[in-house]
Amino acid sequence: MTEEFVHSTLALSPVSATAAGYHAHQGVALDERLDDVSPSGMEARRRHFRDWLSRFSRIDEQSLDAQARADLDLMRNLCEASLFELDTEQNWKNNPTLYVELLGTALFTPYSVEYAPAEERWKHLIARLEAAPAFLEAARASLAQSNPVWTQTALEENDGNLELIEKEFPAKVPETLRARYQAAAARAAGAMRAFNAHLKALPDAGAEGWRLGREKYARKFELTFRGLATPEALLKEAEEAMTDLRRHMFKVALPLHSKYYPTHRDPVDLNLIVGEVLDKIAQKQSKPETYFRDAQRTLDEAREFLRANADRIVALPPNDNLKIIETPAFMRGIYAVGGFNPAPPLQPELGAFYWLTPIPADWPRERVQSKLREYNYYGLRLLTIHEAVPGHWLQFEYAAQVEPAPRRLLRSLFGDGAYIEGWAVYATDLMVREGYLNRDPELELTHSKQLLRAIANAILDIRLHTMGMSGEEAMELMTKRTFQEKEEAVAKLRRAKLSSCQLPTYFAGFRAWKRLREAAEKQAGAQFRPGDFHRRALLAGALPVPAVAALLGVSLEQGAAAEKGAAQQR
Ligand SMILES: [Zn+2]
Repeated sequence: MTEEFVHSTLALSPVSATAAGYHAHQGVALDERLDDVSPSGMEARRRHFRDWLSRFSRIDEQSLDAQARADLDLMRNLCEASLFELDTEQNWKNNPTLYVELLGTALFTPYSVEYAPAEERWKHLIARLEAAPAFLEAARASLAQSNPVWTQTALEENDGNLELIEKEFPAKVPETLRARYQAAAARAAGAMRAFNAHLKALPDAGAEGWRLGREKYARKFELTFRGLATPEALLKEAEEAMTDLRRHMFKVALPLHSKYYPTHRDPVDLNLIVGEVLDKIAQKQSKPETYFRDAQRTLDEAREFLRANADRIVALPPNDNLKIIETPAFMRGIYAVGGFNPAPPLQPELGAFYWLTPIPADWPRERVQSKLREYNYYGLRLLTIHEAVPGHWLQFEYAAQVEPAPRRLLRSLFGDGAYIEGWAVYATDLMVREGYLNRDPELELTHSKQLLRAIANAILDIRLHTMGMSGEEAMELMTKRTFQEKEEAVAKLRRAKLSSCQLPTYFAGFRAWKRLREAAEKQAGAQFRPGDFHRRALLAGALPVPAVAALLGVSLEQGAAAEKGAAQQR
């Protein structure tokens, strides 16, 4: 049943299917197709998820083992979340970036993932280009309105797509397919430009149209964080954690401050002292032209450290399939810094990509500086740890070992966001705790600043979408209270307006992983082996953290009680 569910759900989105390594469904070649995004296509999706929910309701859950029950929960949750999107949130009616990113991914996957010989993949790409005008026509029929933020992003990302098909692809297309490519690309480009014109004329949902609103947000949060927390509870915890962490940073910064600014007679002001030290640290940075090469080096360093500390952290997977590449232009709206694109779960031997967003050549000096200050010597290393080793890449490599294949596919493709982002944040914290860069206090401070950013992400998302937080208040939280560079904060604010319930996954997931570990450690006592514990938790795949706890036989209440006790002792 899991297999049928995963395959039939993938077949609804050929674009996702190719990326997952699922190339044909009941004799239909998916790699040449685009998703049906017309209103009737949306109706077909709705029917699909409703039918599955009713099938699931007829299952006798007592007859399932723990692993199968975890799968059932995940599938049911996916159905409910999809129906929420189709019926209530309705990005398909309101958010044009959906279509632009889908089209970009449709073309970029056969171009960049080597699941078949190059010539065959070019044929897939060309077939999808040929289908693009009809796809955009269907998108127009579905889109009822947009707001200025989403429209502007869609226009920019659509220009990214145009750049792909008019500049990047023509230089690489095989000679034998050139004529067919050119004909398809010309028609597709015409349709894409017409789509841009259509977007500019869409009914305006208003400057605040990106806010999800309290009621919808509460429901989406419940579907995303299944029992981890309510928005109110997470917000309260995040604001308390922010205060604690700022105090910790002050302690770490004081000795550094005396070292760097021996002549300063500053008043004992937290923002000033921490800010000045971070300022000094930010000066240790790359140049725009070496940024990419420097990132490559940080990857080797992280691998090296992990090899030496496998028993305290986790063993490095044997696969060498990770490539670091520039973030594709059509994804730079949401991936302003970088990202991770896993290998297809059905073909884990194919490439996984660590995306690093390059610094545009036409940026003014001030913007370049701001970016290089945020992703300085330490910031770039922490980014690599998060996206790749032992963060996202490592986690997906472990998830790729889940058996049998349908279970692996389910947990990799429809995995739990808080588990995934939480692991990356938790793993970064582990690296720092275990002595990466020899316990350099500058790394500690930079890492704390990034944890502070994860906390701010949660606060921003909840306050922006449910409490009417203004852009100025958001900027103040980011640049003043949590020490972010302006460039980082501007990009984050845009991202917060483009998504909802994603930005809190970092903090909510981090806190869940920490509790899981504390509970497991308490239960095992002196027998606790962190490397082994992490390996087992990663081999479960991306289930909600409480489900992982259940599979590992860890009682989370114990951990929560222990934490409470420790807090009282302090
Ligand atoms: Zn991440």
